[in-house]
Amino acid sequence: LRDSQALLEGHFELSSGLHSERYFQCALVLMDPRRAEGLARALVEHVSAEVDVVVGPALGAVIWAHELARALGTRALFTERKDGAMSLRRGFSIAAGEKALVVEDVVTTGGSAGEVIDVVQASGGRPVGVATIVDRSGSNPFAARGLELWALATAEAKAWLPKDCPLCARGDKAVKPGSRTGT
Ligand code: ZN
Repeated sequence: LRDSQALLEGHFELSSGLHSERYFQCALVLMDPRRAEGLARALVEHVSAEVDVVVGPALGAVIWAHELARALGTRALFTERKDGAMSLRRGFSIAAGEKALVVEDVVTTGGSAGEVIDVVQASGGRPVGVATIVDRSGSNPFAARGLELWALATAEAKAWLPKDCPLCARGDKAVKPGSRTGT
């Protein structure tokens, strides 16, 4: 992540809404197809479940889902928001009973991946676990649903609600790297 400048230091608003002094811009790792393929091959070594299909939330997990699916020999799907609700579009479908690996580039609160799990279940599929590049959750947010979280890296990057953020308290303004062009 450091080699590809994907690990940013500063004051960031994460997609979860939490503030942090670290941001993982995984697009900068995944933009190198050989690196992306290597990361996926390394991660599937740890996935101790049978997988029929890989599914992750757009946009962050589209390439990652594709690389994991390549490594597992399955197909790759992504979910998108329509009127705020996560859903499978573009003719994508999951057959009843299919074992789905839910994937995300970074897991913080597990919000987006949790919504993908809901989509899989609503489609009749069976989520078998979650696979991520970076786990910065502190503790597996999917454990309550009986799902394992497999990660290549565990980061103890602190994250705060905006009202508790010490960087905001210093009068510093958080940036949203994911939504800015050029970052
Ligand atoms: Zn802040």
